[in-house]
Amino acid sequence: MTKVCVDSALCVGHGRCYTLAPDVFDADEYGHSIVRVADVSGELEQQAVDAEQNCPERAITLSH
Ligand code: SF4
Repeated sequence: MTKVCVDSALCVGHGRCYTLAPDVFDADEYGHSIVRVADVSGELEQQAVDAEQNCPERAITLSH
């Protein structure tokens, strides 16, 4: 399992994570990212990697 974290101090709400990985991330009322599924594998892990690589603020951390 891979653990998904978003640093809310870095997230500015571009929305790329929940667009690319809607099964892993959601938006709060301000458009900032919320982690829907914190422990991912398989398809969800692939979504999480896509989001991590595309977050302009590098606010997403994946740990194993
Ligand atoms: S892509 Fe990064 S900055 Fe944008 S909403 Fe997601 S975590 Fe926040």
